[in-house]
Amino acid sequence: MKEAKYRTLLLLCFCIALFSFFQIEAKVMDELPLFGKIIFVDPGHGGRDPGAIQGSTYEKDLNLEISLVLRDTLMEKGAIVYMTRESDEDLSSKWDPLKKRGDLYRRILMFRKKNADLYLSIHMNYHSDHSQRGIEVLYNSINPKNKILGTILMDHFKKDFYTKRILKTTNLYMYKNTTVPGVLIECGFISNSYDRGNLKNKDYQKRLANTITKSVIEFMS
Ligand SMILES: [Zn+2]
Repeated sequence: MKEAKYRTLLLLCFCIALFSFFQIEAKVMDELPLFGKIIFVDPGHGGRDPGAIQGSTYEKDLNLEISLVLRDTLMEKGAIVYMTRESDEDLSSKWDPLKKRGDLYRRILMFRKKNADLYLSIHMNYHSDHSQRGIEVLYNSINPKNKILGTILMDHFKKDFYTKRILKTTNLYMYKNTTVPGVLIECGFISNSYDRGNLKNKDYQKRLANTITKSVIEFMS
């Protein structure tokens, strides 16, 4: 009889513990929807490679500025975030015969080494027609998930930033040589004065990071 009571009590404790565990888990997932996800933020160019240039504005600098804001925003949602670079540096080695190729190859290696769930390459666009503006996303079809992520991002960019641009494909070396899911985000045109002003604005950078983060949450779920 005593033993039966003990067993009932034990079962009750177990049920309470299980219920509490699921409640905590639900709360964590609610507040930290990217909990435990490994995401690489990849600011394009750097060091000897400035990317696009418009007057005194270098693409590599804006890429890094916006990437750092994006890193913090993703981390606030629970993601484990790595950066391919956190300063103005080139990832190639002095032994690389092709510097650009070496730089991109090391970025791919980083994704692989950390077993990343996702990468987000951050770039700025340029066009000789300075009226061209807006955000666009590019993906390579090496992983079918890339198109899904690209579509989600473009939908949110259209709603939040009224961009008229469309989802495009890319066959650039880095994107066709990694099966880790990810896309290239061209955050705007540094050749367009309206976009350029926005891209340098801290509030705009945070808005961009928020839209990218909510798209990633949607993709991950
Ligand atoms: Zn670029």
